[in-house]
Amino acid sequence: MLSFLLSLGLGFGSINLANLPAQQVEQIAKEVMAEMEVEMRTKPSLIVTERPEPTPLGALAYANGKCVVIVNTNKTAWAQWGRFLNEENRAQWSQIVAASVAHEMGHCLRESRSFVANFEVSPEEFRGIQNTGSFGPKPEMVYKQELFADTVAILYARENAGEEANAVIEIMIQARERFSANEPTHNTGKMLSRLTTLDTSRLENETIGIAAARLLSAL
Ligand SMILES: [Zn+2]
Repeated sequence: MLSFLLSLGLGFGSINLANLPAQQVEQIAKEVMAEMEVEMRTKPSLIVTERPEPTPLGALAYANGKCVVIVNTNKTAWAQWGRFLNEENRAQWSQIVAASVAHEMGHCLRESRSFVANFEVSPEEFRGIQNTGSFGPKPEMVYKQELFADTVAILYARENAGEEANAVIEIMIQARERFSANEPTHNTGKMLSRLTTLDTSRLENETIGIAAARLLSAL
């Protein structure tokens, strides 16, 4: 009962810049980017700033390979960390933030583009995605981009989060499932659950992006 009350006390929307300082997220982002940039042709850059977008973390992926990771300190956006972070998983916060940065970097990898162009969504998954009724980029394309980026995040967690990896991955998948009704294009939970049953070790000389595309194609 006590943990239930605590999780209500620090539930969705109650993450703020005091309990999760921007500098902490910035430091984690730097570490993740330093690790992943060795596999990228162009060195990515990081900016920490207040922007109007509703998400606390994002990436701008340019066609020429340039990648900018954005830590958005807008207070309303920052509260969205509460989708993943709560009092019960405080021990995993750093690893969850790291996996989230890896997700954003996943959008910048060149394999993301080829994956989106070549991957065929199963008819069952496709029906769910088409129910969005939203404007903007094609829902199927957004879904494939998110699926690829989530897969990069899972590989990153397995390779870097040590004993916390399973917990971190479970928290990510649960967040996808919890918000799937509002965000069908981000409803990657089912595919990710299947992915976690696979041996996700990389082949020799394989980049994280190539490994992600290979594993998803095998599902
Ligand atoms: Zn994304």
